[in-house]
Amino acid sequence: MRKKIVAGNWKMNLSLQEGVALANDLKAALAAETPNCDVVICTPFIHLATLAAVTEGTVIGLGAENCADKEKGAYTGEVSASQVKSTGAQYVILGHSERRAYYHETAEILKAKLHLALDNGLKVIFCIGEVLEEREAGKQNEVVARQLADSLFDLTAEQLKNVVLAYEPVWAIGTGKTATAEQAEDMHAFIRGVMAGRFGEPAAEELSILYGGSCKPSNAKEIFSKPDVDGGLIGGASLKCADFKGIIDAWK
Ligand code: PEP
Repeated sequence: MRKKIVAGNWKMNLSLQEGVALANDLKAALAAETPNCDVVICTPFIHLATLAAVTEGTVIGLGAENCADKEKGAYTGEVSASQVKSTGAQYVILGHSERRAYYHETAEILKAKLHLALDNGLKVIFCIGEVLEEREAGKQNEVVARQLADSLFDLTAEQLKNVVLAYEPVWAIGTGKTATAEQAEDMHAFIRGVMAGRFGEPAAEELSILYGGSCKPSNAKEIFSKPDVDGGLIGGASLKCADFKGIIDAWK
């Protein structure tokens, strides 16, 4: 049975104090009712060390939203994978469409980040997904297959065990426009097939593939009910404890 996961992506939101308050609320909510899935919060770097202490011994996993493509040294303003790991975090999101679009992260850069993250003992939530024009042109499968091949295909099957994929159609991120459960399932099944072609059927069957894009308590249950959807990567709705908990409860 592959892992079911609900992961939050706080993006560039919340002060340190607001982040601690949200994590404490979530901790209390999940202590009262054990979730039926893994729960992860991915936060700005400034929250990590403090939240590692808040989440220690709880069901909540902790991750960063990015890491550097260099190991260490004179890269002012960057944060390395080993520095992320040293905070106590266990995960890092890589390949988010906002990083690809606004910070020009290419497949090569992402590949370097991916290897550094895995080498430093982090689990990677790796995002892929097409933009609206690509979907309208019917090119979504081609685009996603290329993203997978360009950044992930030189991993070993052993390394792949520490990777979770997140299919995030860019047109659904932060827009309120969710993919239908059928669109999500079609793409997730396609992704699993592409990964099976490279890594073999058993490895692909083990791989958790999350859906991301305007997921909320009202639509999570339907999307998560699809056989190849193993949970969600949640942006906006992860910033409110009740909404994030509502999505976690979709696995009840
Ligand atoms: C995201 O950015 O990963 C995301 C899924 O955002 P939202 O849920 O706000 O669409």
